[in-house]
Amino acid sequence: MGFDYVFDTDFSADLTIMEEGSELVEHLKHPEGVKFPMFTSCCPGWVRYCKARHPRFTDQLSTSKSPGQMFGAIAKSYYAELLGVDPHRIFCVEIMPCLAKKSEVGIPVMNDACGDPDVDVSLTVREVDRMIRAEHIDVFSLAESDFDQPLGTATGAGVIFGATGGVMEAALRSAYYLVTGENCDADAFKDVRGLDGWKEASFDIAGTTLHVAVASGLGNASRLLNALETGEVSYDFVEIMACPGGCSGGGGLPIHDGEELAGVRGDVLWGLDRTAKLRRSHENPAIQAVYRDYLGTPLSERAEKLLHTDQHAWKMPREA
Ligand code: SF4
Repeated sequence: MGFDYVFDTDFSADLTIMEEGSELVEHLKHPEGVKFPMFTSCCPGWVRYCKARHPRFTDQLSTSKSPGQMFGAIAKSYYAELLGVDPHRIFCVEIMPCLAKKSEVGIPVMNDACGDPDVDVSLTVREVDRMIRAEHIDVFSLAESDFDQPLGTATGAGVIFGATGGVMEAALRSAYYLVTGENCDADAFKDVRGLDGWKEASFDIAGTTLHVAVASGLGNASRLLNALETGEVSYDFVEIMACPGGCSGGGGLPIHDGEELAGVRGDVLWGLDRTAKLRRSHENPAIQAVYRDYLGTPLSERAEKLLHTDQHAWKMPREA
């Protein structure tokens, strides 16, 4: 179908966790002038909703880009250097469960690697399914093959990004390590799993109690934000995904009339995490290599330039 290299976005989900988890830890260590809760920012549907309907919370969005955007920025910088090619010659296509990412790739400031858009095109899984059929490719007759390297290695923490609560859990697994220098039980934060639209939990990390919430579906997000505005609830860290159930219920996935598959697909992701050899983003050897050889540390100057964004740098269509 014309692709020279095929990688795994779960790699850059691990990268997102390294940056977002470090951002959370920094906020907790230096809370002066920081507004809580910090919100996840990996769902462009949620980011747009926040900016459009609850703009007073825009400041509290993590500055970390979504895994797709982080991937593009790394592909056209670090990977271009590894290949020894001009990054302008790389055309980066992401295949996503998501419709909102089609808009995200067009955000004018998502061009941090070489000035071109970091991701050139975002296709949905449903579209790629049709393309495969149009090419008359019988996927079941193809031999299994690995993702290309080094951007094709991921941990269980990267995999669970696709299920509601997964980003929170993955972030806390690495935040725990960043604070204590030790790994926690990989299931220590499992209280945020499940398909409830609005979940709450409190965890102790090295003597600090962290109050967290997870919402999926914009109706639930709206209720949560209203409760925050009235002071009914208060949290330190909140994950919001626009689609009910998270990306496993994403609007760009194949649709089976009358069936809701977000939970079934989410269970597959949790199962893959359970059996993964590595279940924490900071254990990913490919992530360790990209920091060692290129980025330095999470939140370094280069990481800030490539992997973070100013959520105020673009406006909604009707914003003055
Ligand atoms: S939850 Fe939905 S809108 Fe958000 S990133 Fe996932 S698929 Fe896209």
